[in-house]
Amino acid sequence: MAKVMVIGAGPAGLRAAESLARFGLDVLLVEQAPYLGGALARHRYGGLMPYFDSGPQVLKAMTAVVTDHARVTVCTESQVGRVESTDGGFQVELMGQTATEEHVQAVILATGFTHFDPRRDAKYGYGLFPDVITGAELEEQMAAGPVHRVSNGAIPESVAFIYCVGSRDRQVGNTYCSRVCCAVSTKQGIELRQQLPQARIVMFYMDVRTYGLWEDQLYWRAQEEAGIVYVKGRVAEITQHDGRPLLKGEDTLIRGPFEWEFDLVVLATGMEPAAGTAALAAKFGVEREPHGFLRQAKPMVSAAITNRPGVFVAGAASGPKTVEDSVMEGDVAAMAVLEHLGVKATP
Ligand SMILES: Cc1cc2nc3c(=O)[nH]c(=O)nc-3n(C[C@H](O)[C@H](O)[C@H](O)COP(=O)(O)OP(=O)(O)OC[C@H]3O[C@@H](n4cnc5c(N)ncnc54)[C@H](O)[C@@H]3O)c2cc1C
Ligand code: SF4
Repeated sequence: MAKVMVIGAGPAGLRAAESLARFGLDVLLVEQAPYLGGALARHRYGGLMPYFDSGPQVLKAMTAVVTDHARVTVCTESQVGRVESTDGGFQVELMGQTATEEHVQAVILATGFTHFDPRRDAKYGYGLFPDVITGAELEEQMAAGPVHRVSNGAIPESVAFIYCVGSRDRQVGNTYCSRVCCAVSTKQGIELRQQLPQARIVMFYMDVRTYGLWEDQLYWRAQEEAGIVYVKGRVAEITQHDGRPLLKGEDTLIRGPFEWEFDLVVLATGMEPAAGTAALAAKFGVEREPHGFLRQAKPMVSAAITNRPGVFVAGAASGPKTVEDSVMEGDVAAMAVLEHLGVKATP
Protein backbone atom coordinates (compact mmCIF):
# COMPACT_ATOMS: atom_id res chain seq x y z
CA MET A 1 0.00 0.00 0.00
CA ALA A 2 1.16 3.52 -0.80
CA LYS A 3 2.79 5.57 1.93
CA VAL A 4 2.29 9.32 2.30
CA MET A 5 4.29 11.74 4.41
CA VAL A 6 2.33 14.52 6.11
CA ILE A 7 4.59 17.25 7.52
CA GLY A 8 3.05 19.27 10.35
CA ALA A 9 0.51 17.98 12.86
CA GLY A 10 -1.73 21.00 13.34
CA PRO A 11 -5.43 20.87 12.44
CA ALA A 12 -4.65 20.60 8.71
CA GLY A 13 -2.03 17.84 8.98
CA LEU A 14 -4.03 15.85 11.52
CA ARG A 15 -7.08 15.91 9.29
CA ALA A 16 -5.10 14.98 6.19
CA ALA A 17 -3.52 12.04 8.04
CA GLU A 18 -6.88 10.87 9.32
CA SER A 19 -8.52 11.00 5.88
CA LEU A 20 -5.66 9.20 4.13
CA ALA A 21 -5.64 6.47 6.76
CA ARG A 22 -9.39 6.00 6.43
CA PHE A 23 -8.83 5.37 2.71
CA GLY A 24 -6.34 2.65 3.56
CA LEU A 25 -3.07 4.50 2.93
CA ASP A 26 -0.11 4.35 5.30
CA VAL A 27 0.74 7.73 6.75
CA LEU A 28 3.92 9.04 8.28
CA LEU A 29 2.97 12.12 10.29
CA VAL A 30 6.06 14.24 10.92
CA GLU A 31 5.92 16.94 13.59
CA GLN A 32 8.82 19.02 14.86
CA ALA A 33 7.21 19.77 18.24
CA PRO A 34 6.97 17.18 21.02
CA TYR A 35 3.15 17.37 20.89
CA LEU A 36 0.37 17.22 18.28
CA GLY A 37 -2.21 19.92 17.54
CA GLY A 38 -0.19 22.84 16.17
CA ALA A 39 -1.16 26.31 17.37
CA LEU A 40 -4.18 24.95 19.27
CA ALA A 41 -1.92 22.95 21.53
CA ARG A 42 0.92 25.49 21.64
CA HIS A 43 -1.28 28.34 22.88
CA ARG A 44 -3.97 26.31 24.65
CA TYR A 45 -6.85 28.03 22.84
CA GLY A 46 -9.85 27.95 25.13
CA GLY A 47 -12.97 28.70 23.12
CA LEU A 48 -12.63 28.55 19.36
CA MET A 49 -14.01 31.24 17.14
CA PRO A 50 -16.60 31.36 15.62
CA TYR A 51 -18.77 28.83 17.46
CA PHE A 52 -17.08 28.93 20.88
CA ASP A 53 -16.30 25.19 20.67
CA SER A 54 -14.03 24.04 23.45
CA GLY A 55 -10.43 24.17 22.14
CA PRO A 56 -9.20 21.31 24.38
CA GLN A 57 -12.09 19.08 23.27
CA VAL A 58 -11.56 19.80 19.57
CA LEU A 59 -7.85 19.12 20.05
CA LYS A 60 -8.48 15.86 21.89
CA ALA A 61 -10.84 14.60 19.17
CA MET A 62 -8.43 15.57 16.37
CA THR A 63 -5.39 13.92 17.92
CA ALA A 64 -7.13 10.78 19.23
CA VAL A 65 -8.07 9.65 15.70
CA VAL A 66 -4.52 9.65 14.43
CA THR A 67 -2.81 8.32 17.53
CA ASP A 68 -5.32 5.44 17.67
CA HIS A 69 -5.12 4.59 13.96
CA ALA A 70 -2.98 1.60 13.04
CA ARG A 71 -2.07 3.09 9.64
CA VAL A 72 -0.67 6.35 11.05
CA THR A 73 2.89 6.44 12.35
CA VAL A 74 3.43 9.58 14.39
CA CYS A 75 6.97 10.97 14.52
CA THR A 76 7.18 13.92 16.91
CA GLU A 77 10.33 15.96 17.49
CA SER A 78 11.21 15.11 13.91
CA GLN A 79 12.26 17.09 10.85
CA VAL A 80 12.85 16.39 7.22
CA GLY A 81 16.47 16.32 6.06
CA ARG A 82 17.57 15.51 2.51
CA VAL A 83 14.90 14.94 -0.15
CA GLU A 84 15.45 13.11 -3.43
CA SER A 85 13.04 12.33 -6.26
CA THR A 86 12.60 8.69 -7.13
CA ASP A 87 10.60 6.94 -9.82
CA GLY A 88 7.51 6.52 -7.75
CA GLY A 89 7.83 9.38 -5.29
CA PHE A 90 10.41 10.72 -2.87
CA GLN A 91 13.24 9.41 -0.75
CA VAL A 92 13.19 11.50 2.42
CA GLU A 93 15.68 11.60 5.26
CA LEU A 94 13.75 11.80 8.52
CA MET A 95 15.70 13.24 11.41
CA GLY A 96 14.33 12.47 14.84
CA GLN A 97 16.10 10.81 17.74
CA THR A 98 17.73 8.72 15.05
CA ALA A 99 17.96 9.43 11.31
CA THR A 100 16.02 7.11 8.98
CA GLU A 101 15.34 6.97 5.25
CA GLU A 102 11.73 6.85 4.14
CA HIS A 103 10.31 6.21 0.71
CA VAL A 104 6.94 7.85 0.20
CA GLN A 105 4.70 8.22 -2.84
CA ALA A 106 3.37 11.67 -1.98
CA VAL A 107 3.90 14.46 0.53
CA ILE A 108 1.53 16.95 2.16
CA LEU A 109 3.08 20.12 3.56
CA ALA A 110 0.93 21.31 6.49
CA THR A 111 3.50 23.36 8.35
CA GLY A 112 1.14 26.16 9.32
CA PHE A 113 2.11 29.59 10.52
CA THR A 114 3.95 31.50 13.17
CA HIS A 115 2.79 34.65 14.96
CA PHE A 116 4.22 38.01 14.03
CA ASP A 117 6.69 38.98 16.76
CA PRO A 118 5.56 42.44 17.94
CA ARG A 119 9.08 43.28 19.11
CA ARG A 120 9.67 44.02 15.43
CA ASP A 121 7.43 47.10 15.72
CA ALA A 122 8.75 49.23 18.56
CA LYS A 123 5.71 51.51 18.75
CA TYR A 124 3.71 48.90 20.67
CA GLY A 125 6.19 48.66 23.54
CA TYR A 126 5.89 44.88 23.60
CA GLY A 127 8.68 43.38 25.69
CA LEU A 128 9.18 46.77 27.33
CA PHE A 129 5.88 47.18 29.16
CA PRO A 130 4.70 44.00 30.90
CA ASP A 131 1.00 44.77 30.53
CA VAL A 132 1.22 44.75 26.74
CA ILE A 133 0.61 41.13 25.72
CA THR A 134 -0.32 39.25 22.53
CA GLY A 135 -3.61 37.54 21.70
CA ALA A 136 -1.91 34.16 22.02
CA GLU A 137 -0.70 35.10 25.52
CA LEU A 138 -4.24 36.15 26.41
CA GLU A 139 -5.47 32.69 25.31
CA GLU A 140 -2.86 31.13 27.60
CA GLN A 141 -3.95 33.41 30.49
CA MET A 142 -7.62 32.56 29.94
CA ALA A 143 -6.81 28.83 29.94
CA ALA A 144 -4.68 29.02 33.10
CA GLY A 145 -6.91 31.08 35.36
CA PRO A 146 -8.18 34.59 35.83
CA VAL A 147 -6.89 37.13 33.35
CA HIS A 148 -4.51 39.45 35.14
CA ARG A 149 -2.07 42.28 34.70
CA VAL A 150 1.40 40.82 34.20
CA SER A 151 2.99 43.70 36.15
CA ASN A 152 1.25 43.07 39.48
CA GLY A 153 -1.21 40.20 39.12
CA ALA A 154 -4.22 42.51 39.59
CA ILE A 155 -7.51 41.84 37.78
CA PRO A 156 -7.72 44.45 34.97
CA GLU A 157 -10.49 47.03 35.02
CA SER A 158 -9.83 48.10 31.45
CA VAL A 159 -8.53 46.14 28.46
CA ALA A 160 -7.65 47.44 24.99
CA PHE A 161 -7.22 45.28 21.90
CA ILE A 162 -5.18 46.61 18.99
CA TYR A 163 -5.95 45.08 15.59
CA CYS A 164 -3.69 44.50 12.59
CA VAL A 165 -0.42 44.24 14.54
CA GLY A 166 2.08 42.98 11.98
CA SER A 167 -0.53 42.78 9.21
CA ARG A 168 -1.54 45.26 6.50
CA ASP A 169 1.60 47.17 7.28
CA ARG A 170 4.25 48.00 4.69
CA GLN A 171 6.74 49.09 7.35
CA VAL A 172 6.98 45.62 8.87
CA GLY A 173 6.84 43.99 5.44
CA ASN A 174 3.46 42.26 5.80
CA THR A 175 0.99 43.83 3.40
CA TYR A 176 -1.66 41.10 3.66
CA CYS A 177 -4.60 40.75 6.05
CA SER A 178 -4.29 37.85 8.50
CA ARG A 179 -8.02 37.06 8.16
CA VAL A 180 -8.70 35.59 11.58
CA CYS A 181 -7.56 38.23 14.09
CA CYS A 182 -10.64 40.51 13.98
CA ALA A 183 -12.90 37.57 14.74
CA VAL A 184 -10.49 36.00 17.25
CA SER A 185 -10.15 39.30 19.16
CA THR A 186 -13.91 39.77 19.13
CA LYS A 187 -14.35 36.23 20.44
CA GLN A 188 -11.78 36.92 23.13
CA GLY A 189 -13.59 40.14 24.09
CA ILE A 190 -16.87 38.24 24.50
CA GLU A 191 -15.12 35.60 26.64
CA LEU A 192 -13.36 38.28 28.66
CA ARG A 193 -16.67 39.96 29.44
CA GLN A 194 -17.73 36.80 31.31
CA GLN A 195 -14.61 37.00 33.48
CA LEU A 196 -14.67 40.78 33.84
CA PRO A 197 -18.30 41.94 33.98
CA GLN A 198 -17.43 45.51 34.97
CA ALA A 199 -14.32 46.11 32.87
CA ARG A 200 -14.09 48.59 30.01
CA ILE A 201 -13.17 46.64 26.89
CA VAL A 202 -12.20 48.64 23.81
CA MET A 203 -11.19 47.41 20.34
CA PHE A 204 -8.99 49.73 18.24
CA TYR A 205 -9.40 48.73 14.61
CA MET A 206 -8.60 49.80 11.03
CA ASP A 207 -11.50 47.78 9.60
CA VAL A 208 -13.54 45.06 11.28
CA ARG A 209 -13.29 41.99 9.07
CA THR A 210 -15.70 39.62 10.76
CA TYR A 211 -16.74 38.52 7.31
CA GLY A 212 -19.56 36.21 6.25
CA LEU A 213 -21.69 34.72 8.98
CA TRP A 214 -19.52 36.20 11.73
CA GLU A 215 -20.96 39.70 11.41
CA ASP A 216 -23.93 39.22 13.75
CA GLN A 217 -22.61 36.10 15.51
CA LEU A 218 -19.52 37.91 16.74
CA TYR A 219 -19.31 41.62 15.90
CA TRP A 220 -22.88 42.65 16.70
CA ARG A 221 -23.02 40.32 19.66
CA ALA A 222 -19.83 41.84 21.09
CA GLN A 223 -21.37 45.30 21.02
CA GLU A 224 -24.99 44.52 21.84
CA GLU A 225 -24.57 41.78 24.43
CA ALA A 226 -21.06 42.21 25.77
CA GLY A 227 -20.90 46.02 25.77
CA ILE A 228 -17.60 46.12 23.92
CA VAL A 229 -16.66 49.46 22.39
CA TYR A 230 -15.10 49.66 18.91
CA VAL A 231 -12.94 52.68 18.07
CA LYS A 232 -11.80 53.16 14.48
CA GLY A 233 -8.30 54.44 14.67
CA ARG A 234 -4.64 53.77 14.51
CA VAL A 235 -2.60 53.55 17.69
CA ALA A 236 0.54 55.53 16.94
CA GLU A 237 2.44 54.72 20.12
CA ILE A 238 2.21 52.98 23.46
CA THR A 239 4.10 54.44 26.39
CA GLN A 240 3.60 53.98 30.11
CA HIS A 241 2.06 56.36 32.65
CA ASP A 242 1.85 55.61 36.39
CA GLY A 243 2.67 51.98 35.60
CA ARG A 244 -0.17 51.55 33.06
CA PRO A 245 0.07 51.38 29.27
CA LEU A 246 -0.86 54.69 27.68
CA LEU A 247 -2.21 54.55 24.12
CA LYS A 248 -1.76 57.56 21.84
CA GLY A 249 -3.35 57.73 18.43
CA GLU A 250 -6.07 59.15 16.28
CA ASP A 251 -9.76 58.31 16.16
CA THR A 252 -10.26 58.39 12.42
CA LEU A 253 -14.06 58.63 12.58
CA ILE A 254 -14.29 61.73 14.77
CA ARG A 255 -10.92 62.89 13.45
CA GLY A 256 -9.35 63.66 16.75
CA PRO A 257 -6.34 62.50 18.74
CA PHE A 258 -6.74 60.34 21.83
CA GLU A 259 -4.64 59.44 24.85
CA TRP A 260 -6.09 56.58 26.83
CA GLU A 261 -4.69 54.53 29.73
CA PHE A 262 -5.54 50.85 30.13
CA ASP A 263 -4.67 48.17 32.65
CA LEU A 264 -3.96 45.60 29.95
CA VAL A 265 -3.33 45.86 26.20
CA VAL A 266 -3.74 42.88 23.86
CA LEU A 267 -2.02 42.95 20.46
CA ALA A 268 -3.87 41.06 17.73
CA THR A 269 -0.70 39.81 16.06
CA GLY A 270 -0.95 38.48 12.55
CA MET A 271 0.11 35.22 10.95
CA GLU A 272 3.39 34.71 9.10
CA PRO A 273 4.76 31.63 7.32
CA ALA A 274 6.18 29.12 9.80
CA ALA A 275 9.91 29.41 10.42
CA GLY A 276 11.65 27.08 8.00
CA THR A 277 9.02 27.39 5.26
CA ALA A 278 11.53 28.68 2.72
CA ALA A 279 14.00 25.86 3.41
CA LEU A 280 11.29 23.19 3.25
CA ALA A 281 9.90 24.67 0.03
CA ALA A 282 13.37 24.55 -1.50
CA LYS A 283 13.89 20.90 -0.48
CA PHE A 284 10.67 19.87 -2.22
CA GLY A 285 10.97 22.31 -5.13
CA VAL A 286 7.74 24.05 -4.15
CA GLU A 287 7.25 27.71 -5.03
CA ARG A 288 6.21 30.34 -2.50
CA GLU A 289 3.79 33.16 -3.15
CA PRO A 290 4.95 36.80 -2.74
CA HIS A 291 4.29 36.91 1.02
CA GLY A 292 6.36 33.81 1.65
CA PHE A 293 3.57 31.25 2.12
CA LEU A 294 3.55 28.10 -0.04
CA ARG A 295 1.95 28.82 -3.39
CA GLN A 296 -1.26 27.12 -4.37
CA ALA A 297 -0.56 26.52 -8.04
CA LYS A 298 -4.15 25.92 -9.16
CA PRO A 299 -6.47 27.40 -6.55
CA MET A 300 -9.45 27.27 -8.90
CA VAL A 301 -8.97 23.52 -9.31
CA SER A 302 -7.84 22.47 -5.85
CA ALA A 303 -6.47 24.32 -2.82
CA ALA A 304 -3.91 21.53 -2.37
CA ILE A 305 -2.03 21.51 -5.68
CA THR A 306 1.49 22.98 -5.73
CA ASN A 307 3.78 23.41 -8.73
CA ARG A 308 5.48 20.10 -7.83
CA PRO A 309 3.60 16.92 -8.79
CA GLY A 310 3.21 14.66 -5.75
CA VAL A 311 3.67 17.48 -3.23
CA PHE A 312 0.52 19.03 -1.80
CA VAL A 313 -0.24 21.81 0.67
CA ALA A 314 -2.90 22.24 3.36
CA GLY A 315 -3.90 24.80 5.98
CA ALA A 316 -2.16 27.98 7.04
CA ALA A 317 1.05 26.95 5.25
CA SER A 318 -0.47 28.54 2.12
CA GLY A 319 -1.81 31.66 3.89
CA PRO A 320 -3.78 32.79 6.94
CA LYS A 321 -6.68 30.43 7.69
CA THR A 322 -9.18 29.52 10.38
CA VAL A 323 -9.17 26.10 12.03
CA GLU A 324 -12.29 25.24 10.04
CA ASP A 325 -10.60 26.12 6.75
CA SER A 326 -7.44 24.29 7.74
CA VAL A 327 -9.34 21.11 8.58
CA MET A 328 -11.21 21.36 5.30
CA GLU A 329 -7.96 21.77 3.38
CA GLY A 330 -6.57 18.72 5.15
CA ASP A 331 -9.38 16.77 3.52
CA VAL A 332 -8.84 18.48 0.18
CA ALA A 333 -5.15 17.55 0.25
CA ALA A 334 -5.98 13.95 1.10
CA MET A 335 -8.35 13.82 -1.87
CA ALA A 336 -5.69 15.29 -4.13
CA VAL A 337 -3.22 12.60 -3.00
CA LEU A 338 -5.76 9.86 -3.70
CA GLU A 339 -6.32 11.25 -7.19
CA HIS A 340 -2.57 11.57 -7.78
CA LEU A 341 -1.99 7.96 -6.73
CA GLY A 342 -5.00 6.70 -8.70
CA VAL A 343 -6.64 5.23 -5.61
CA LYS A 344 -10.13 4.15 -6.58
CA ALA A 345 -13.07 4.66 -4.28
CA THR A 346 -14.32 1.32 -3.03
CA PRO A 347 -18.08 0.88 -3.55
C1 LIG B 1 -4.08 34.09 18.82
C2 LIG B 1 -4.77 33.22 17.79
C3 LIG B 1 -5.97 32.64 18.10
C4 LIG B 1 -6.63 31.85 17.15
N1 LIG B 1 -7.87 31.37 17.47
C5 LIG B 1 -8.56 30.74 16.51
C6 LIG B 1 -9.92 30.37 16.74
O1 LIG B 1 -10.47 30.61 17.81
N2 LIG B 1 -10.58 29.74 15.72
C7 LIG B 1 -9.99 29.50 14.52
O2 LIG B 1 -10.66 28.97 13.62
N3 LIG B 1 -8.70 29.84 14.27
C8 LIG B 1 -8.00 30.45 15.23
N4 LIG B 1 -6.71 30.81 14.97
C9 LIG B 1 -6.07 30.34 13.72
C10 LIG B 1 -5.58 28.88 13.91
O3 LIG B 1 -4.55 28.85 14.85
C11 LIG B 1 -5.11 28.32 12.56
O4 LIG B 1 -6.20 28.36 11.66
C12 LIG B 1 -4.66 26.86 12.64
O5 LIG B 1 -3.78 26.64 13.71
C13 LIG B 1 -3.99 26.48 11.33
O6 LIG B 1 -3.75 25.10 11.35
P1 LIG B 1 -2.53 24.45 10.56
O7 LIG B 1 -2.58 23.00 10.82
O8 LIG B 1 -2.55 24.89 9.16
O9 LIG B 1 -1.22 25.10 11.21
P2 LIG B 1 -0.59 25.06 12.68
O10 LIG B 1 -1.64 25.03 13.72
O11 LIG B 1 0.38 26.19 12.68
O12 LIG B 1 0.20 23.68 12.73
C14 LIG B 1 1.35 23.47 11.94
C15 LIG B 1 2.22 22.41 12.59
O13 LIG B 1 3.33 22.15 11.75
C16 LIG B 1 4.50 22.01 12.54
N5 LIG B 1 5.66 22.32 11.69
C17 LIG B 1 6.01 23.52 11.16
N6 LIG B 1 7.12 23.41 10.42
C18 LIG B 1 7.50 22.11 10.49
C19 LIG B 1 8.57 21.37 9.93
N7 LIG B 1 9.47 21.95 9.12
N8 LIG B 1 8.67 20.06 10.23
C20 LIG B 1 7.76 19.45 11.02
N9 LIG B 1 6.71 20.10 11.59
C21 LIG B 1 6.58 21.41 11.31
C22 LIG B 1 4.29 23.00 13.67
O14 LIG B 1 5.10 22.67 14.79
C23 LIG B 1 2.80 22.84 13.93
O15 LIG B 1 2.55 21.83 14.89
C24 LIG B 1 -6.04 31.60 15.88
C25 LIG B 1 -4.80 32.17 15.58
C26 LIG B 1 -4.20 33.01 16.48
C27 LIG B 1 -2.96 33.69 16.06
S1 SF4 C 1 -8.34 40.08 10.26
FE1 SF4 C 1 -8.72 42.12 11.12
S2 SF4 C 1 -7.07 42.41 12.63
FE2 SF4 C 1 -6.45 40.73 11.31
S3 SF4 C 1 -5.18 41.73 9.75
FE3 SF4 C 1 -7.28 41.55 8.89
S4 SF4 C 1 -8.26 43.48 9.41
FE4 SF4 C 1 -6.43 43.34 10.69
